[in-house]
Amino acid sequence: DVAVALFTSDLRVHDNPMLRAALREAERVVPLFVVDSGIARTGFPAPNRAAFLADCLADLDASLRDRGGRLVVARGDVVAETCRVAEATGAATVHLAAGVSGYATRRERRLRAALAEAGRGLTVHEASLTAVPPGALTPGGRGKDRFVVFTPYFRRWDVESLRAVRGAPRVVRIPDVRSAPLPTPGELAPGEASPALPRGGENEARRRLRAWERGPLDRYAERHDAPGAEDGTSRLSPYLHFGCVSPVELVSRARKRGGDGAEAFVRQLAWRDFYHQMLAARPNSSWEDFRYRRRTGWRDDPAGVAAWRDGRTGFPIIDAAMRQLRHEGWMHNRARLLVASFLTKTLDVDWRVGARYFLDLLVDGDLANNQLNWQWAAGTGTDTRPNRVLNPLTQALRHDRGGPFVRRWVPELAALRGSAVHRPWRVPERLDYPAPIVQPPD
Ligand code: FAD
Repeated sequence: DVAVALFTSDLRVHDNPMLRAALREAERVVPLFVVDSGIARTGFPAPNRAAFLADCLADLDASLRDRGGRLVVARGDVVAETCRVAEATGAATVHLAAGVSGYATRRERRLRAALAEAGRGLTVHEASLTAVPPGALTPGGRGKDRFVVFTPYFRRWDVESLRAVRGAPRVVRIPDVRSAPLPTPGELAPGEASPALPRGGENEARRRLRAWERGPLDRYAERHDAPGAEDGTSRLSPYLHFGCVSPVELVSRARKRGGDGAEAFVRQLAWRDFYHQMLAARPNSSWEDFRYRRRTGWRDDPAGVAAWRDGRTGFPIIDAAMRQLRHEGWMHNRARLLVASFLTKTLDVDWRVGARYFLDLLVDGDLANNQLNWQWAAGTGTDTRPNRVLNPLTQALRHDRGGPFVRRWVPELAALRGSAVHRPWRVPERLDYPAPIVQPPD
């Protein structure tokens, strides 16, 4: 009557199908997190996500303690450690949330085999990582195993009924089991984190969700494309990445609320599901071109890449965005689209260079959303207009009207009035700001 609830990207007690099933099945449950040496070797961990993850684990431990349990921590190979804990506690079953990356799929396969050898079972739970499970929707027609265009996917997704949202368990009883201490950020990934990172954890996610629903959500349709808008978007992405909040719960609450803002918000959550189902179908698309043009002939441009990375391209909106990324470990979606288009279409640099840099810094850095959004922007992915180039000036004039975003992140230009802030190259006086690294559009 013991089960193991193996936490991975579902670090919450509310609406967690994996935890719930374990508690339903067994009298006592080991809530386990393994600091996995295999993940460390993938090169994926980075200081910003490590700091956030350490917060998430401490918060989860506190929530479990409030319910009479605690988080049990182990270190080493996730399969070997899970088997060891199952053996030590006599657990018959291990519960795990389904993942979509190649790594998650291999982990699941190895774990199933190792547990079976010891006469134990593995139960994998869907609809935790995404609102609609990755393989649930398939288009009609032979040979079409997955949607690759968003709009038809969204039409089906939007009428899908979701499972019921569940609350948090009241009591978590655990067996007698030893635990290693919680990991520190430095152990999860050495290096310095960005100075203005959000705090991780489920409690913080729920606090932000409530604040978001108190008003900004209703204005989302008008404001979500303006990178300078205060509370223009939810900033829930890192909490979704680590599973501090359930996407099913977010979609259900927004649908219940209704209105233009909630509808637009739900649509963005569908984009997230869309990319997860694509990565599940083609795990190689994390580093290989997805379709359309298998592009070759990318330019090698170390000086251009350095200027892009350092926020010194001479294009204010691009530089503002890249500086925000370095400072906060997060960047607004419109800004991500602009800097990705600039790197891949204006400088002609391979999308993988940009995607790698983003993964080094983004606190929400996620294989499905990052790699496939980069491919969308580079024209190697699912954009049905793969040749479109986003013009940084017209985009800045439209989405950063009056320049609040640029003024905030590029203080060298703060004195320029109105839209002049977006065209510093037209200003005759000398500014302490670089000249554009490529010909500006006017
Ligand atoms: P909101 O506008 O409040 O949206 C709510 C949620 O919807 C987000 O938290 C996110 O989970 C989802 N969402 C919104 N837009 C998208 C989108 N375009 N694609 C997929 N999901 C979306 N998102 C990540 O979570 N991790 C990444 O590593 C990542 N890399 C990106 C790289 C590029 C080049 C681009 C163009 C986009 C990337 N995105 C990524 C998507 C998007 O930019 C972020 O999810 C969004 O900016 C997060 O801010 P928010 O939570 O305030 O979003």
